[in-house]
Parts: sequence; structure tokens; C-alpha cells
Amino acid sequence: PPKQRLLVVANRLPVSAVRKGEDSWQLEISVGGLVSALLGVKEFDARWIGWAGVNVPDSVGQKALTKALAEKRCIPVFLDEEIVHQYYNGYCNNILWPLFHYLGLPQEDRLATTRSFQSQFDAYKKANQMFADVVHEHYQEGDVVWCHDYHLMFLPKCLKEHNKKMKVGWFLHTPFPSSEIHRTLPSRSELLRSVLAADLVGFHTYDYARHFVSACTRILGLEGTPEGVENQGKLTRVAAFPIGIDSDRFIRALELPQVQDHMKELKERFAGRKVMLGVDRLDMIKGIPQKILAFEKFLEENLNWRDKVVLLQIAVPTRTDVPEYQKLTSQVHEIVGRINGRFGTLTAVPIHHLDRSLDFHALCALYAVTDVALVTSLRDGMNLVSYEFVACQASKKGVLILSEFAGAAQSLGAGAILVNPWNITEVAASIGYALNMAADEREKRHHHNFMHVTTHTSQEWAATFVSELNDTIVEAQLRT
Ligand code: UDP
Repeated sequence: PPKQRLLVVANRLPVSAVRKGEDSWQLEISVGGLVSALLGVKEFDARWIGWAGVNVPDSVGQKALTKALAEKRCIPVFLDEEIVHQYYNGYCNNILWPLFHYLGLPQEDRLATTRSFQSQFDAYKKANQMFADVVHEHYQEGDVVWCHDYHLMFLPKCLKEHNKKMKVGWFLHTPFPSSEIHRTLPSRSELLRSVLAADLVGFHTYDYARHFVSACTRILGLEGTPEGVENQGKLTRVAAFPIGIDSDRFIRALELPQVQDHMKELKERFAGRKVMLGVDRLDMIKGIPQKILAFEKFLEENLNWRDKVVLLQIAVPTRTDVPEYQKLTSQVHEIVGRINGRFGTLTAVPIHHLDRSLDFHALCALYAVTDVALVTSLRDGMNLVSYEFVACQASKKGVLILSEFAGAAQSLGAGAILVNPWNITEVAASIGYALNMAADEREKRHHHNFMHVTTHTSQEWAATFVSELNDTIVEAQLRT
């Protein structure tokens, strides 16, 4: 039988496009979590719908890009610069992102944002409608349409209004905050109602799902049930689907000669010192300053460790045109400089801070040689870095220190040392505990996490979500 078609709709397509001429494009696939998740789901015939990340104002360019993307099973949504500014930079990244991570708006922006709220929300709805138009153009009866993330909360409604029979799922990759936070959003009700148009709504953890259901009961006055949210006899199923990683991809990479070479180099470079690792986008939610301050406190209190431990912090630049992010960058640089000045010697510094990304193989080598990984997110939907670290630790069996505010704390909590990242006394003590941990305790903790990471893969996550969506629709038909 032909495979069921799956239309994956996300803000960004899993490719980056560079224009090489009037009608020629160079495409590069980016292997993120979602891409590898769906590559592993062999029972579906998947296609992607999303923005290619570039402004293409001319029809010749649009046509050529559409054709090039088709070979990668991708279908572009063309957004002009003004819409991107208002919808993506504005409503998505400046309003929804900080709010969903409990950050609030930056103080100096607060009034300006308040004033431009309505126009940004209008652009958000308009952009979501543009995604919907492309879905409609390509939809065939029986297709499953899976919408992703906070960029597309308005999409389920646009899709269902056009076609009630469409199978629509929506998944949120960030936290969903407490209803008390969500209710500060001027568009709180409209967003909830449009998400509820979906047949199935998924989150990484039970807490996020519970927050969403209480937002619907408290703000919309609807009935929440263990199954989901009910509105005039129609049930929207709400459930938790924790994402995972393609763990085999990491485990296999460690066998490659270039990765082995790289590991050897790193081991020689840091011989005689324990390696601690942080890998984060340089985002406010990751708690990088808090992490570094905790490391400083640890060095302050543990003279004997000063030349025996190094912290490698990979800070991948992100949203670099936003003042708030620029400020974070200089703040982190200042703290790192101060600590290295304070505890460094002529031949060694305690912190190696990199403002750049690493390629996949370098990252795997780094994960594998690490003794203690430090994830101190102030809020994080899931945090895949913690999973990737665990996958690469089969021989070293290092320790994971993990923020209780990362979604991953729900699944790796028993193997990791959980911390409150705001409490640098606690984090500093945990660093000491992790560095001194006996081998048998490390093995036990690692085993626990490794079993989880290798059995709860991204492939399984995607397959479970889509099959639950199919089941939900069958059940709904049985009820009527
Ligand atoms: N990553 C990468 N290159 C780097 C550092 C990180 O490709 O130099 C990847 C990493 O492997 C992980 C992702 O970026 O898959 C980060 O995902 P996570 O869920 O931890 O955080 P997010 O950035 O999505 O908030």
C-alpha cells in the first residue's frame, strides 16, 4: 500500500539556501532534531513546508528555489522582509519566546513592545495564513498535517476553517508556561482557541500539557479532562510526547577515525585535568552567566582543584542583531575574562569560552572526552545537548549536572544531578560532588540515562505522535 503522506509544517525548512545566480540556488540540508526524527520514520512519505530563511522578492528566483527545494521534498513559503520583521523577529522571538520561558520583556523595550503588539500579532496571523495557503495548495485527502512550534499557533485554526476533515496535529518545542504567565498575553484567548482547532496538541512534558489545559479552563472557561480539552462536545486531545535524539548517529560517529583522532588530541591537550563542558546557544534561557559564576565559586572554595579542572563553554551565536543578545555576549565575556584573570596562570586558564558552533564530529569528540557536563538552563523545552552528551559517554561514564527547569530533567532526573541554576552555591557544590564521584556511582547514573536516551529516540517520538493523531481521529469518528 502507498505510504501515508505527512506534511511537516515548521517556520524554517531544514535547508539553508544560498542564491548563486538569477535562477540558481545552492542548498544545504541542516540535520536538526526534527530532521533526523523524521528521516527515521520510514512508514511515512514526509514533505516539509516552511520558510527558506531568505528573502526572494522576484518571481524568477522564487520559481528556481521552489524547483530546487522540490528535490529535497521541501516546499517554500515566501515571506517578505516586513512580515519577517514583524512576525518572526517581533511577535515570535521578542514576545512569545521570552514569555514562554518566563523571562518577561526587556525593561527598556517594554512600552515599545506594548505599543507595537497589535501590529505584530496581525503580522503573525497573516504569516500563519500564508503557511496555511501553501498547505492547502499541496494537501491531498488523507494527509496528516503536523504543525510545529510557537511560530505557528494560529495555523491549526486556518487549516481547519478551510477543511474540517484535515488531520491536524500541533507540537510545541518550548515550555508552555503557567496559565498566570499566559494570561498576560493580549492575544491569550485567540491563540489558545486556534491551537484547540487541532485534533492533537503535544508538549515535551506533562507539566507543559497541564499548564496548557489550565490556561484553557481558566482563560477560556472550557472543560479540562484527563484526555484533553472539551469544547461543545468536541475534544482536542492534549498529551506529552518527550522528544529524543537519533542516539545511534552519535554512537556510530565515535567510531570514525577523524573523531577518534580528535578525541586523542583533546585528551592530550587536557591531560591531568578534568574536563567540564557546556554547549548552548548564547541565549538568556540557557543560564550561561549563572553557570560560570557557579564555576567561579567552586574554584574559590576548592584551591586544590584550580589547576586540575577546565571548563569548555561552547556558546553558539544566535539572534546576534538583537541588543539584548549582544548585551548577554559582553556580559559573559566580562565574567569569563575576570575569572581567567583571577585563576589563570601563565600556561593555563580555567575557562575556554568559544563564541562559535562546532561541526558534528568535533562536538561528538568533545562530548566523549568530557568528565562533567553542565546544563544550567533557566528554562528549556527539552534540551537535547544533555541527551547527546549521555549518548557519547558509553566508555567514560561522566556525570551530567542538569537544571531542574529543563524538560530533560523529567526523563534524566534519576541519573543526573539536578540543580536549581539560580542557586550558585548549590551548583558549585554539585560540581565538587560530580568531580569527586566514585566510579560505581557514575556507572549507575550513566547506565540509567544511557538506557533512556537509547530507547526514547527521536524516530520513536515522531512515530508515536503521528500514530496518536491517527488514533485520535478514529476515536472522534466513533463518538459521533
Ligand atoms: N549544536 C550544533 N553545533 C554546535 C553546538 C550545538 O549543532 O556547535 C546542536 C546540538 O547538537 C543540539 C542543538 O544544537 O542538537 C541544541 O539543541 P538544544 O535542544 O540543546 O537547545 P536549543 O538550541 O534547541 O535551544
